[in-house]
Amino acid sequence: MKIAVAAETRDGEARVALVPELVGKLTALGYDVAVEPGAGMHALLSDDEYVGAGATIDAEAITDADLVVSVQPLDVDRIRRLRRGTATVSFLPTTFEQAVVVDLRDCGITAFAMELVPRISRAQSMDALSSQALVAGYRSAIVAAGLLRRFFPLNMTAAGTVPPAQIVVLGAGVAGLQAIATAKRLGAVVKAYDVRAAAAEEIRSMGAVAIDLELETLEGTGGYAREMTEDRAARQRDLLAPYIAAADGLITTAAVPGRQAPMLVTTEMVEQMGAGSVVVDLADETGGNVEGSQPGQVVRIGRAQVWGGANVPAQMPGPASKLYAQNIVNIVTLMTRTASEDQPAAFAPDFDDEIVSGSAVTHDHRIVHGPTREAIEGPEVVEPPPVVEPVETPVETEEQQ
Ligand code: NAD
Repeated sequence: MKIAVAAETRDGEARVALVPELVGKLTALGYDVAVEPGAGMHALLSDDEYVGAGATIDAEAITDADLVVSVQPLDVDRIRRLRRGTATVSFLPTTFEQAVVVDLRDCGITAFAMELVPRISRAQSMDALSSQALVAGYRSAIVAAGLLRRFFPLNMTAAGTVPPAQIVVLGAGVAGLQAIATAKRLGAVVKAYDVRAAAAEEIRSMGAVAIDLELETLEGTGGYAREMTEDRAARQRDLLAPYIAAADGLITTAAVPGRQAPMLVTTEMVEQMGAGSVVVDLADETGGNVEGSQPGQVVRIGRAQVWGGANVPAQMPGPASKLYAQNIVNIVTLMTRTASEDQPAAFAPDFDDEIVSGSAVTHDHRIVHGPTREAIEGPEVVEPPPVVEPVETPVETEEQQ
């Protein structure tokens, strides 16, 4: 039973899917852990540390593995080097990675996507969206504090009083709440808005002011937000404009699962912000919450510097990798049958378990995640039942009798 840890190949990806301190959890389950050379390098983890923890370093680790773990999906060349029936566990944003999904299907790979792990309490320890959103939310507040050339906290000194920074956070999910908490710890005055009704209480519990726009709330399924109509979006923008104009810093984190990020802030709204103000748009990779922001760049709009997020968790690769690796170990443990008197340990995902079936994208040459299958292969054609022609029973005439 062999598990391979892939070295990440995509630009800007500095995380790694397994950290040395968790190697022992997998060897205890019965796995041989093989790590591609330099896999932990960008997270400041050396090959020697993996070897010291009980792993081997192997440039060909993925080719004969039962399971390959990574942060980003494997690229096409590497998928084609896997044995048929190998499983992969990684982030796999199926909406944006359809070519990869097709290759995984065609090569007979069983692929699991960390984004699709159902958000039920039993799966909380496997929830990589939350663990990485925590890192991104923290980082967004630190970036805002770094760009803003003024104090976050109130300072009352003999030389005079410096008022605290005014920060507005839009979207108060996992990342937004962490941004609020971090900005509060740094001493800023924080106001926040989210479309979900439950968010107001969560915002207040972080010590921030919940902005009440007196608009209808937008709850979708599974505790997520619903998409706005254009009319609702326009009213929200009008009502938020004065809060944004008065802010020194704006942090946006709003998302709707499976959709482009909602456009919450127009360039006109940013142009109303004061000199030296900053905007941090965490949602930039899925379209952005702020018109004109660019992923991975700082652009100027009016008098504000606008910072666009691009793979923000990878900017803190050490802690992000450690949290992600714990998520990976927990999901691999769920999918591993422990050794017993009758049978050896095996990687044996139970597709009757909703965490396993919910996160599976491809299996046995099929796309098993319904929405992805429909997006790639089109709607399932249900064959109508064959038309059975009525058999005419000859009617006996009087003459025949
Ligand atoms: P997300 O990343 O999908 O969205 C971020 C936030 O943006 C959400 O709070 C959403 O309501 C908000 N948003 C969407 N459209 C908006 C708009 N037009 N204006 C303002 N805000 C908008 O969400 P997330 O951070 O992954 O979590 C969302 C919810 O799921 C939260 O309630 C969270 O507590 C819950 N959650 C549950 C579990 C679990 O049960 N295991 C795990 C994680 C999160």
